[in-house]
Amino acid sequence: MKALIPALLLAIVSVGTVFAKGGPAINEKCPVDGTTVRIIYRVFTDAGTVAFCCVDCMETYKANPSRYTVTPKPPGK
Ligand SMILES: [Zn+2]
Repeated sequence: MKALIPALLLAIVSVGTVFAKGGPAINEKCPVDGTTVRIIYRVFTDAGTVAFCCVDCMETYKANPSRYTVTPKPPGK
């Protein structure tokens, strides 16, 4: 069973982790550059799932999360 853990970690890090749980993204615009997000690029934060437009933005955000403001999408839309 130990061999399963590295495999899981790899899956979490991978961009291909589309089906991991964590709920829908709280934002619809990339906090790094304002582009419409794609849910495959996301980070789980205390505030919820934050999505990004591309892997570069995701890595940029992860390197310094406090630098970016995540704008939650408007309710009921
Ligand atoms: Zn972006």
